[in-house]
Amino acid sequence: MRILVAGAGIGGLTLALALHRRGFEVAVFEAVAGPRALGVGINLLPHAVKELGELGLLDALADTGIETASLRYYNKHGQPIWQEPRGLLAGYPWPQFSIHRGELLMILLRAARAALGPERIVTGHELAEASQHGSGISARFRRRADGGEHVEEADVLVAADGIHSALRRQWFPDEGPPRFAGRLLWRATTVGEPFLDGRSMFMAGHQDQKFVAYPISEPLRREGKALINWIAELRVDGQTPPRDDWNRQVPKSVFDHAFAGWRWPWIDIPALIRRAEAVYEFPLVDRDPLACWSRGRLTLLGDAAHPMYPIGSNGASQAILDARCLADALAGHADPEAALARYDAERRPKTAAIVMANRRNGPEQVMQLAEERAPQGFADVHDVIAHEELQAIADRYKQLAGFDKARLTQEKNA
Ligand SMILES: Cc1cc2nc3c(=O)[nH]c(=O)nc-3n(C[C@H](O)[C@H](O)[C@H](O)COP(=O)(O)OP(=O)(O)OC[C@H]3O[C@@H](n4cnc5c(N)ncnc54)[C@H](O)[C@@H]3O)c2cc1C
Repeated sequence: MRILVAGAGIGGLTLALALHRRGFEVAVFEAVAGPRALGVGINLLPHAVKELGELGLLDALADTGIETASLRYYNKHGQPIWQEPRGLLAGYPWPQFSIHRGELLMILLRAARAALGPERIVTGHELAEASQHGSGISARFRRRADGGEHVEEADVLVAADGIHSALRRQWFPDEGPPRFAGRLLWRATTVGEPFLDGRSMFMAGHQDQKFVAYPISEPLRREGKALINWIAELRVDGQTPPRDDWNRQVPKSVFDHAFAGWRWPWIDIPALIRRAEAVYEFPLVDRDPLACWSRGRLTLLGDAAHPMYPIGSNGASQAILDARCLADALAGHADPEAALARYDAERRPKTAAIVMANRRNGPEQVMQLAEERAPQGFADVHDVIAHEELQAIADRYKQLAGFDKARLTQEKNA
């Protein structure tokens, strides 16, 4: 069976590797001519690390990213709301990694080129349109360099082409642009001193003003320094989002005043912002869940299928889980249409639930509760939110996103 994948992002490349391991002939077509290590930090949750481990990538991840030790939530005064261990330290059978998105992409790209052969990762070609005929699919690709077009025939096409997916647009021409939450994110990295234990991730504030930071470079950690990925987020007026382009650079003066007083004994946020070289602006966007992802031999995967707010560290992890599920379905069904329907039935409801939970702040709900109940701060968080309530929010989200510890431990022992 020949399978085409449109998009060499985290989802598309993971799928290509997983399909290759199951003996399929795969070709990947990527719109960008020279894929580069773009983006800033990203988290890989233990269930996604398990899948990348099965593709032989665990050592590369451990050499590159930080094995996340804990996740901590604070209010806007820097007072602790909740903290929990993460990954191996929490007793999971697999670690969680905080990693540079571009470096993760390069790890996947190198592995895919080595496994499939470099000629099977075709760059500078974007999917324009796809259709199904009796026993196969036709996909029209356009060369970015000169607009030249050619048609590829195959048994299956998977569109892993991100939030502006061409196949999704072809199927749902009236869907329009992504849905804007009225919040903007400013993302950057700063080389600095390690904070907390040098392996932890923190979030402070509430849904209208938030700051998130975590270290993402294991080589720098070994030198006693930290490459700190950070995200400042603010609610903004107006309904028209700026371009959702991951490379849109803006001056710090657009947002830094809002965080001027956010200096606490263990972190100096204004200094982190000041020492960053480049800051990238991105609107908080997602799309409504779809009623179907698979039509016959064509399907969607990753952000093309379920773009979600970057809340709960889930976008890349869910794309990786999609890849595993789809590869298993294709390997387990002689009929590709049945395989794609199975994948749709398995993954679509789960990811739709995460999209909707993230609109309600996902696990970050604890920060919003603290803000609503004690905007001036508290002596002890348990005066305003019971431990059981905090625990229940954390547990519920892990179950929803598929990484509760009991379940992963069971999978490991199965
Ligand atoms: C440049 C870039 C930077 C990012 N930076 C961050 C970040 O810093 N932090 C973070 O949390 N998330 C970031 N993301 C998003 C994150 O990587 C995704 O949410 C997640 O990993 C899901 O991956 P995906 O493979 O489904 O989609 P994506 O990562 O969006 O990958 C889609 C791929 O498809 C390609 N493509 C698009 N249209 C076509 C087409 N018509 N034909 C063929 N190929 C096409 C794109 O060039 C891209 O390589 C970034 C995404 C991109 C594209």
